[in-house]
Amino acid sequence: MTDFTYEVDADGVAIITWDVPNKSMNVLNLDSMVTLEGFVDQALADDKVKGVILTSGKKDFAGGMDLNVIAKMKESAGDDPARGLFEGIMKFHGLERKIELAGMDFKTKKGGKPIAAALPGTALGIGLEIPLSCHRIIAADNPKAKIGLPEIMVGIFPGAGGTMRLTRKLGAMAAAPFLLEGKLSDPKKAKAAGIIDEVVAPEDLMTRAKEWVLSATDADIVKPWDAKGYKMPGGTPYHPAGFMTFVGASAMVHGKTQGVYPAAKALLAAVYEGAMVPFDTALKIEARWFTNVLMNPSSAAMIRSLFINKEALEKGANRPKVDDQTVKKVGVLGAGMMGAGIAYVSASAGIEVVLIDAKQEAADKGKSYSEGLLDKGMKRGKVTAEKKAEVLGRINATTDYAALQGCDLIVEAVFEDMGVKADVTAKAEAVIPADAIFATNTSTLPISDLAKASKRPEQFIGIHFFSPVDKMMLVEIIKGKETGDVAVAKALDFVRQIRKTPIVVNDARFFYANRCIIPYINEGIRMVAEGVEPALIENAAKLLGFPLGPLQLVDETSIDLGVKIAKATKAAMGDAYPDSAVDEVLFAMADRGRLGRKSNAGFYAYDDKGGRLGLWEELGAVWPVADTQPDLHEVQHRLMMAQVLEAVRALEEGVLEDIREGDVGAILGWGFAPWSGGPFAWLDIIGAEQAVAICGGLENRYGARFVAPKLLRDLAAKGETFYGRLSPVGKAA
Ligand code: NAD
Repeated sequence: MTDFTYEVDADGVAIITWDVPNKSMNVLNLDSMVTLEGFVDQALADDKVKGVILTSGKKDFAGGMDLNVIAKMKESAGDDPARGLFEGIMKFHGLERKIELAGMDFKTKKGGKPIAAALPGTALGIGLEIPLSCHRIIAADNPKAKIGLPEIMVGIFPGAGGTMRLTRKLGAMAAAPFLLEGKLSDPKKAKAAGIIDEVVAPEDLMTRAKEWVLSATDADIVKPWDAKGYKMPGGTPYHPAGFMTFVGASAMVHGKTQGVYPAAKALLAAVYEGAMVPFDTALKIEARWFTNVLMNPSSAAMIRSLFINKEALEKGANRPKVDDQTVKKVGVLGAGMMGAGIAYVSASAGIEVVLIDAKQEAADKGKSYSEGLLDKGMKRGKVTAEKKAEVLGRINATTDYAALQGCDLIVEAVFEDMGVKADVTAKAEAVIPADAIFATNTSTLPISDLAKASKRPEQFIGIHFFSPVDKMMLVEIIKGKETGDVAVAKALDFVRQIRKTPIVVNDARFFYANRCIIPYINEGIRMVAEGVEPALIENAAKLLGFPLGPLQLVDETSIDLGVKIAKATKAAMGDAYPDSAVDEVLFAMADRGRLGRKSNAGFYAYDDKGGRLGLWEELGAVWPVADTQPDLHEVQHRLMMAQVLEAVRALEEGVLEDIREGDVGAILGWGFAPWSGGPFAWLDIIGAEQAVAICGGLENRYGARFVAPKLLRDLAAKGETFYGRLSPVGKAA
């Protein structure tokens, strides 16, 4: 069985159907590309064939390219992977160009066969690039379908002709959101944007495609860019309007990416250069830039973390082999900020929710949070009135613990207090079935200690959400000392149901994500105390690709929370506590009532409406700025190493069991420089030896917190990498 099938109907229309056996979604690989090309050749050579329809046997057209193709192309040319890539990409171009020219005489533009793409549903990546080479794209009116080129999201760009074709079809400006932001649209919006040509009722899809193929004229199948006198919409770079577009786009891309994402820069360069030459040369330019991006270690690391490993974790790579644990009814204890969010994501995923708080008003307020989010969704046309009623209908807001009967999972999100948590654990366990799993959303309390309040510690686990729950994609699952496999599987199945990404870690102070974020924030605050210019600290972080500098981050999470955590940590660690210098600044800010965004005052100044204005002007008066400022790289190394060394220690100590989780968790949990692929991927990019050298310098200048962990030194001594030694799936991508 092949991924494509071929038949010619009685009217002489060849129908090429994409239907990868035993898969729910079509993806393209090198073998299937050869099959497709064979059928295109067959159709073009057969005099009985008048035209071709390319369609899918599934509900969707295609999800994109099998990203393992990239590794295969690299390997195909031995010690010259760039050549393997370039030649591989040019083969894709060759196939698509063959479809586009469809056997016509290039000079007269006559004699070609019309080729239509008939898309029943989603068409992404190469699943849209191939249709873009067809002469007409007809899509079924399927509002759930997603049409677009999301490559940029994983650190590459549409390099199989999509970049050149879309910019020539729409103009650089109009194509920008689809190429640079990976914007996806439903078929109607894709039609309005000019990406596809027609939207028809699903049942009419094939009839309409056939009608078009049989009635198309020679002129209908000549792409504008192959026709005489073609002018790019919006103008090429040397046209006055085009000039404005490219200057603006270049500045915008740099502003958004801080120059750290190679794919965005390469995409823009390809569009700019490609716009000034004939189409076939433009495709070569696109292939060169695409090769350049694929050879950049950042792209490989992003693909590995944000695509391959993220998906593997979502599909249960670390799930114990026990029966399905799909959650049917969840009890959420505590309807505050977190509980309300957890109730919303659960009910939205079709799970019955009992939302409990100490007072009915509080429970109702928690439920109204869902109502607010659903109303927002309705305003944006994403939620229907029925859907809103359905979701709200699933949430029972109450104070009555008896309502927890029949819950197979509890997620506790009451105050961060051992006593309160123990009390609600006992109350809930008195009602829920004996095999129900009890999870706590605590951020700071040890899971194994909280489990002491449970009669069934093997069914007790941590499910740690991040705020805001509806937006943050990471969920940290924490195993206590006695947590059993069924509890882990239940937590993972729950996270799958609510469509988030899980990591599974062991119980230790601050688990994984917060453990690494705190040193990042602390290093920033420490520098303020040392007299480093605050703008230098913040910009150094942004230039590394962090969404928030450490000072902005602590303003967002609140300075009094920082004070609370510092006090609790000091109490727990005693003399070993290392952060007194940080506390001086934190406590002084809190004493001044500058608690961060929530008090409209923190390291930043805010207007009355909470809008952030800029760094607090008097910061320099309280902590004078030193005359001599450190080099930008010194600041960046401090901020970076503060986090990644903590990640390495978490791995050494067995808190993390899988480096994939360490990398994916860092990017999704606290926005760790996505271009790097995560802390372990970043260390692999710079090399352990270089990392150890940087740590040595920092240790000399700033102290023991920068001592290179043993594991890192060992990798450096042996010339190894984290993914080389520890990847659970063998060689790195
Ligand atoms: P919150 O103060 O907004 O909400 C707590 C809710 O619990 C309140 O509505 C309160 O009325 C209710 N409650 C207290 N005692 C109760 C009882 N005995 N029975 C029933 N309800 C009771 O707090 P939050 O920010 O939602 O945090 C809740 C938990 O989630 C804490 O353990 C916290 O550490 C954890 N957490 C918080 C965040 C965050 O960013 N806020 C992130 C991850 C985890």
